[in-house]
Amino acid sequence: MSFDGLIKGLHHVTATVNDAQKDVDFYTKLLGQRLVKETVNFDNEKVYHFYYGNEIGSPSTIFTTFPYKDQGVRQGTIGTGQVYETVFSAPENSMEFWKSRLRNHGLKTTTETRFGKEFLLFEDPSGLKLSIVEDNSDDRNPVWTTDEIPIEQAIKGIHSVVLAVKDSGETIHFLNDFGYNIVENDAVCTLLESQEKGAGNSLIVLDGKDLSEGINGLGTVHHVAHRVDSIEDSIKIKQELESKYGIQVTEVKDRKYFKSIYFRIPGNVLFEVATSGPGFLVDESNEELGTSLKLPDWQEVRRQQIEKNLEPYER
Ligand code: ZN
Repeated sequence: MSFDGLIKGLHHVTATVNDAQKDVDFYTKLLGQRLVKETVNFDNEKVYHFYYGNEIGSPSTIFTTFPYKDQGVRQGTIGTGQVYETVFSAPENSMEFWKSRLRNHGLKTTTETRFGKEFLLFEDPSGLKLSIVEDNSDDRNPVWTTDEIPIEQAIKGIHSVVLAVKDSGETIHFLNDFGYNIVENDAVCTLLESQEKGAGNSLIVLDGKDLSEGINGLGTVHHVAHRVDSIEDSIKIKQELESKYGIQVTEVKDRKYFKSIYFRIPGNVLFEVATSGPGFLVDESNEELGTSLKLPDWQEVRRQQIEKNLEPYER
């Protein structure tokens, strides 16, 4: 295997969304995720960067958003070359709870059977495609709970992402090398897992021959990140991608809570490889996570100006 098992599984999913308040309400109140970090987009300090996850934002539980409302970003189109859908993992026997909870909050839901399992499909306020699937083998901890969502029903993190591509054969071939092995095929979907298997370590490749090409914008996923143990592993991956596949890879970027490289895979989906550490406790205690705006040192000097440009919202 050319990447030698360096990829452990998923790290996070990052989406471009619309309104900050609606985003926070949806992911924390309705889905019961914890806002583990409030910061800004390191490449555009006028825009928040919200990180949602389990109690401490463990890698593979993290869903992050850039709320770009009123920043001149168009509504995107979900299609090929993108993460088409993000799947969240919920405990066994929680599906009825989620069906009624989402419907009671006015969401349109549908169900679809894939690989013998029922997926509950819905959209977030920006139009992102999301789903929930039960997985009784998901033992990720510590789970975050709320007054309305007890541990028996609480989402445990990201289960998998659906990648839509024009030529699924080409993409699957690459993913096999990259560290995800084929588990199962059904009509238009192929399930793959990293060596660590199961929830948080799975990809679904959707054959998107009949779909239009995705266009980045509000309501689309920007990229999916995969976790590695160390930055040395990321550099090995970068070298392998460049020399063997001729794929252009960015320099290492310091995202404060992890270090990252970015590249497009065959099929055009934007991937990130991120280190599992140091994590979200580097600048806040567990109790404080997500309760105030955190900035990297190089932006801290402009805090007043940055705060002035951000629209306030209520947690
Ligand atoms: Zn990312």
